[in-house]
Amino acid sequence: MTTHRTAVVVGAASGIGWASAQALAEDGYRVVLADRNADGVRDRAATLGEPHRSASADVTDEDSVQRLFDETGPCDAVVNCAGFSNVGLIVDMPVEQFREVIDVCLTGGFVVAKHAGRVLREGGALVQISSLNGRQPASGMSAYCAAKAGLSMLTQVAALEMAPRGIRVNAVAPGFVHTPLTDPAASVPGVVEEYLENTPLGRAGRPEDVAAAVAFLCSPAASWMTGEVLDLNGGAHLKRYPDILHHVMKLAEA
Ligand code: NAP
Repeated sequence: MTTHRTAVVVGAASGIGWASAQALAEDGYRVVLADRNADGVRDRAATLGEPHRSASADVTDEDSVQRLFDETGPCDAVVNCAGFSNVGLIVDMPVEQFREVIDVCLTGGFVVAKHAGRVLREGGALVQISSLNGRQPASGMSAYCAAKAGLSMLTQVAALEMAPRGIRVNAVAPGFVHTPLTDPAASVPGVVEEYLENTPLGRAGRPEDVAAAVAFLCSPAASWMTGEVLDLNGGAHLKRYPDILHHVMKLAEA
């Protein structure tokens, strides 16, 4: 009988999570694809076939995350890709909208770390998907930037706490990657152009670029690496973030 290492990918129905699930499946993991989009993740698991499976989990609902890891049992790799953003000036933003982003992107990362940390085996790895916006501010994205900066720090604290049990905790901090999450921003004239002007390697990311880094961080090749927040952005962290709000307002005025 083949024994597989087990990986859980949260947010696996789309974009970076789906690409990460495929990369880990190729590396020989039995992958549990989890998402709040239960139908989406069921289709993705069916595409991968046996022994992979799907599960419904919402990182804003701790019970659902606890259930996910209780049902999965001991595992070797966990990747948290759940996240979203909104856009608006601080002075105009209802606090509920700020909290919604913090709840998914930061508190969600805590809840996944908490329950994953209880079932990860010695030698296991947890990877959070932070963002270039964890270190580079973007006007109009206060909640997202604050949440991702917090997630990068949470990653380092979790790395300290879990190291005695041989569990490594790292984050990937991607720049602009074409996914359904960024479709709305990418459709605003000027946004992608300004991003590329500020990206030394001259192209946006693909989900596969991020998945390759995730697979590396989960692998034995990264066995001496913990508490790292890996910039992955074509060099965009060396320059500045596009003024997305400016482009949105220009579009609204047109
Ligand atoms: P995506 O294509 O929208 O995929 C995110 C997936 O997570 C979706 O299936 C989404 O479901 C799910 N999700 C959202 N909230 C959730 C929750 N509360 N519980 C469980 N699942 C949830 O986005 P992506 O671009 O791949 O982003 C993945 C991660 O990378 C996010 O954390 C994002 O902040 C980060 N990131 C992305 C970029 C980029 O440029 N794309 C750059 C830096 C960092 P729904 O479709 O129902 O929302």
